[in-house]
Amino acid sequence: MTSSARPLLNRRLAEFGTTIFAEMSALALATNAINLGQGFPDTDGPEQVREAAVRALRDGRGNQYPPGPGVPELRTAIADHQKRRYGIGLDADREVLVTAGATEAIAASLLALVEPGDEVVAFEPYYDSYAASIALAGGTRVPVTLRPHDGRFRLDLDELRAAVTPRTRLLLVNTPHNPTGTVLTRAELTAIAELAVERDLLVVTDEVYEHLTFDDAEHVPLATLPGMRERTVTIGSAGKTFSFTGWKVGWVTSSPELVTAVRSAKQFLTYVSAGPFQYAVAEALALPDSYFTDFRADMTAKRDLLSAGLTEAGFSVFRPQGTYFVTTDIRPLGFDDGFAFCRALPERCGVVAIPNAVFYDDRAAGAPFVRFAFCKRQDVLAEAVGRLKRL
Ligand SMILES: *Cc1c(COP(=O)(O)O)cnc(C)c1O
Repeated sequence: MTSSARPLLNRRLAEFGTTIFAEMSALALATNAINLGQGFPDTDGPEQVREAAVRALRDGRGNQYPPGPGVPELRTAIADHQKRRYGIGLDADREVLVTAGATEAIAASLLALVEPGDEVVAFEPYYDSYAASIALAGGTRVPVTLRPHDGRFRLDLDELRAAVTPRTRLLLVNTPHNPTGTVLTRAELTAIAELAVERDLLVVTDEVYEHLTFDDAEHVPLATLPGMRERTVTIGSAGKTFSFTGWKVGWVTSSPELVTAVRSAKQFLTYVSAGPFQYAVAEALALPDSYFTDFRADMTAKRDLLSAGLTEAGFSVFRPQGTYFVTTDIRPLGFDDGFAFCRALPERCGVVAIPNAVFYDDRAAGAPFVRFAFCKRQDVLAEAVGRLKRL
């Protein structure tokens, strides 16, 4: 242990400390509260996919270092999935890279594509690894704030255009969007694409909730829009789509040049991703459409249950069009500080939620918003709703 005054944690990471999830999960444990903070399902994904992982382990497939870009079976399954769902043709050998979850895909993309001093424009509130990955890459984050409008968090396209400067290297997009539940419309995405083409920007797009859209919301991959195929790094993951968040199998699809760049960073982060799970995810991606339809229907019912309960409890609810999460406004309940509200909530009624302010640079803009996860069993959600009504 050094006794010098120099902090141990380097200055790129100093501002990040420990995540709110650790604090809130500890609070949940201490108070025996229902944890609707962190977004992981309390039920595992399809038995058949779990069995595929067991079979791979037993058959000795992937127990030794798999190929750096990912096993061919999975790369082919990813390419087939993009073709079948979106009509995107990919060369499975040159345009697909398997990563250790979407988290590594995000980090590797930014480390590969951003030079110190480059600006990265991202929508806030943002997923918490974005800011840290931009910082690790030496980039400067430039937030564009999504603001509530007609019951939905909306992107202001003029603000986005104004955020782009000659130093902007890339746009970091996330749709369906965590934590707000917004799904960017085709018109919004078209405007983003036009801006990227006009200003010659790269785009990294986090589409891990591509299968979790509700009602008539449509997920439009940015890479399908004119001029985007060659400048877009698309990120996907098995964690959310198949309810195996612990497996950490994600992927990048893009042009051969961009995939090669991202792989250059990935090879020194994890070198390769865990082998047996890759074979299982290859089988999962080939599941019939009914799996995806049923999954969406199940999650829609859960969204409805929690949204209705929160509304009855007095929250103002932004009905999510996608993701695992519902964002609420606590002001109708007489509060305006989400941090204080979430710290007190487990004691007051035995439920844990996350203050959206942690996902903002502009903490004031996020202050009155609180996020609840609904990727939990219906009986758990019903119990949580009962408790919240005590507020
Ligand atoms: C959960 C999540 C991730 C992380 O995905 P992993 O595959 O578990 O690394 C990335 N982006 C968003 C928006 C998420 O919600």
